[in-house]
Amino acid sequence: MIQFLSVTKSYPAAEENIFAVEDVSFEIEEGEFVFLVGPSGSGKTTLIKMLIREIIPSEGKIFFNDEDITRFKRQQVYMHRRKIGVIFQDFKLIPELNAYENVAFAMEVAGRSEAEIKEHVPYLLDIVGLSNRMHFFPRQLSGGEKQRVAIARAISNNPDLLIADEPTGNLDPESAWDIVQILSKINNWGTTVLMSTHGFDIVNSLHKRVIKMQDGKMVRDVMKGTYEELDDFSLKVMTKASEKTSEVKDETETEIEEKPKENKKKTIKTTLKRKSKKVEVEEDEDADATEEDEALVEEIDEEETEINEEDNKKEKKEDKAEEDEIEEVESADTEDQDVEEQEEEVEEKKETKKKKVTKKEKEIEEEEDKDIEAKILEKIDSDEPIELDEDSKNTKKLLDKAKKTKISKLDLSRKELGALKEGRYETVADLIEAGVDEIKKVKSLTKTNIKNISKEIENFASNS
Ligand code: ADP
Ligand code: MG
Repeated sequence: MIQFLSVTKSYPAAEENIFAVEDVSFEIEEGEFVFLVGPSGSGKTTLIKMLIREIIPSEGKIFFNDEDITRFKRQQVYMHRRKIGVIFQDFKLIPELNAYENVAFAMEVAGRSEAEIKEHVPYLLDIVGLSNRMHFFPRQLSGGEKQRVAIARAISNNPDLLIADEPTGNLDPESAWDIVQILSKINNWGTTVLMSTHGFDIVNSLHKRVIKMQDGKMVRDVMKGTYEELDDFSLKVMTKASEKTSEVKDETETEIEEKPKENKKKTIKTTLKRKSKKVEVEEDEDADATEEDEALVEEIDEEETEINEEDNKKEKKEDKAEEDEIEEVESADTEDQDVEEQEEEVEEKKETKKKKVTKKEKEIEEEEDKDIEAKILEKIDSDEPIELDEDSKNTKKLLDKAKKTKISKLDLSRKELGALKEGRYETVADLIEAGVDEIKKVKSLTKTNIKNISKEIENFASNS
């Protein structure tokens, strides 16, 4: 979808040119969620500005959907920008318009009909959890809420790509976490997301791809962040998020979780099921902490860069091999699929009926299950000691073991393994954390596959 080829952006200066971005190359596939990280001044915004054709590279090429955007004429630039939604650190809302009107205005400008706007805006504000703030003006909203309006506005015209340039830069850890969750959700529904951030390595906790910039150069491109890479600030964010879990459950988050499934073009694992309670916040509340943490993050990052570059190369090689394997497996399997798909449809219809009846019951059950599961998972992540009853102790033991067990240890077919890996499931714990409903969303998995996978998870659990 996006290709940067040896892109350089330099600005003339008195002594020698300033290289805001220097010889950067990377690709982003449709449907990816990519974090663009790096300290202030490392070139993140410059990259983004080039991508939305606000500025043109001094050297190199940028392709968007296979078109060289560096050569676009004015009209093409307008068309190009329509395909991209952007949000910024300072929200850029229109102060005279309320939340509803801010979103509606963007749709009007894009030529959408009144009827469409009336129907769509409440839906968008619902997605970002602001149904009850529809008629509030920006000055009546907290930082996090303003950013939610900005997100609703950015996705109002169904962009292919959502760019967020330091969207959490002005927010406290809780609101930052909420924003990242919403972006992740939007990404799950098929929109490619590129989010820049300096220092907020919540990134790694989401196991998304991380491109790291330093002094205008790309110094790291990690396909999946890991817990080990968590920096201090992220830990703080995570801890805040898990503290919230034991408090009141956030209705907003639940609503978001249950948005219409037909919108989903693509599914990615929801790594951690955290519920964080939305809070009203004063802006800049923790500016001090952020500065301090940044310094720390930068220090650690510098040390890590060298090691990571090595790792990176290795990881890329491995990923490539893995991809090749998945491709091979997929092409071999397409024939069976048609028949199976038809059967599935019938079955699915039956199930929907059944589901309606049992939905209420299930909801209650799930709430309870989730509470326990989430609590345990979060405590494990935060490395805090936790008082557990006998049942929970067993669950914890199981999850510990599951975390160490690769899915290849289960008795699954090559195709099943391939599909799961593509859905970014690595360990049995990933599968357990996601749950069958989430796993079902992995493309190319048939009902039979799902049954087999569920059975294997059950076997694993009962043998542990
Ligand atoms: P980031 O978004 O990572 O904080 P930027 O992309 O905004 O970094 O800036 C990268 C570098 O390019 C900085 O050193 C900045 O001073 C420089 N730069 C950005 N825009 C210009 C400009 N218009 N003229 C001169 N230098 C610029
Ligand atoms: Mg910037």
